[in-house]
Amino acid sequence: MLINHLRLADLMQQHKEELATIESIDSGAVYTLALKTHIGMSIETWRYFAGWTDKIMGNTIPISHARPNKNLTFTKKEPIGVCGLVTPWNYPLMMLSWKMAACLAAGNTVVIKPAAVCPLTALKFAELSAKAGIPPGVINVVTGSGGLVGNAIAAHPDVRKLGFTGSTEIGQVIMKTCAESNLKKVSLELGGKSPLVIFSDCDLDKAVRLGMQSVFFNKGENCIAAGRLFVEASIYDEFVRRVVQETKKMTVGDPLNRSTAHGPQNHYAHLKKLLEYIDIGVKQGAKLRYGGKRVDRPGYFLEPTILSDVEDNMFVAKEESFGPIMCISKFHDGDVEGVIKRANATEYGLASGVFTKDLSKAMKFAESIDAGTVFINTYNKTDVGAPFGGFKQSGFGKDLGQDALNEYLKTKCVTLEY
Ligand code: NAD
Ligand code: MN
Repeated sequence: MLINHLRLADLMQQHKEELATIESIDSGAVYTLALKTHIGMSIETWRYFAGWTDKIMGNTIPISHARPNKNLTFTKKEPIGVCGLVTPWNYPLMMLSWKMAACLAAGNTVVIKPAAVCPLTALKFAELSAKAGIPPGVINVVTGSGGLVGNAIAAHPDVRKLGFTGSTEIGQVIMKTCAESNLKKVSLELGGKSPLVIFSDCDLDKAVRLGMQSVFFNKGENCIAAGRLFVEASIYDEFVRRVVQETKKMTVGDPLNRSTAHGPQNHYAHLKKLLEYIDIGVKQGAKLRYGGKRVDRPGYFLEPTILSDVEDNMFVAKEESFGPIMCISKFHDGDVEGVIKRANATEYGLASGVFTKDLSKAMKFAESIDAGTVFINTYNKTDVGAPFGGFKQSGFGKDLGQDALNEYLKTKCVTLEY
């Protein structure tokens, strides 16, 4: 598959503007981001996993201490067979690529169902995969609803592995379906409410800039989006003032326009849910500092929104919005233990972040936080080589990196006596 992966990456590279345009129109991602991240990282993912295709190997294992030892025990990593993939609408081609490039590098065949609201780049990809010389039957794209097509894949007796990215709610349904059908192996990349802790000893310019990106990147439709910002009391007012000032400068508009910073939400039901989310936040006492309204133009535009004074028991402190809504909470000066405890007080465990120049404080945070990803003085820095996936109800299993390969392999142990 090495050559096929590279050919596919080359073809995607040749069609990157077309793919980015389709993704932008279909998902509302601004074109510049679609080109760089949605499509750019998809291409990198295919190239990265091309490198693994000829490096899948097992171990030789000493099983007996008797001398002379007359045993040879070794493991072989084998493909699982037919794998099913079910993916969400926020990064349609990138979620396909994260999973499928690993799945095929491991030698499997695949049936994928892209999100019903954003299937177009998956179809274009299918066309390119045929051009790349991938044999018929290896990649199968089936569009349709989750309840019908997604469920049929999860329930199918010949599918031996299901890779899923989506909500925690549907993840639970999928896991049950996988168990009841044929106990197929399953990996789940689910929702998150990732904490970002900002200490007063940070580089404040950087914390403001990346704090905004941690929330507004891809209009908040980002699984690792910081769902909650905890800001130390002594810089709290200044931080809030500065994020409001900077957010005002964001240009909201046509995602195809190269100077747009913030595009429309993915679909109407999602926009409606986000408006309700803000409404509940304000009714429960959060302060609306900026935005909060639908933008008066055609399309599902929501102003980038900032809520401050968010208290731990509020709905907006607990629930994932999956939209451009910054939720800011204050913590007492110097209360490292307390803020870590609050950051961990969630059923999610996808990502987390901390801004401080004090490395021991940063490492204490990294060790104590119960999340699959920790960013220190940065955010959103995912990489094809770095394993990505959550803890607790954010699911289990990894995309990307060497770990992702093992999600699509099984280990056979062979023992020979001579
Ligand atoms: P969703 O769970 O509603 O849908 C995800 C996919 O599952 C879609 O393709 C959908 O059609 C399908 N589906 C729905 N019901 C199904 C069923 N009964 N059986 C089989 N398949 C079914 O999620 P969404 O609304 O598309 O995406 C938003 C959610 O995804 C958010 O919670 C977000 O955090 C999460 N997400 C997580 C990651 C991650 O890596 N952890 C990445 C992106 C998105
Ligand atoms: Mn949904």
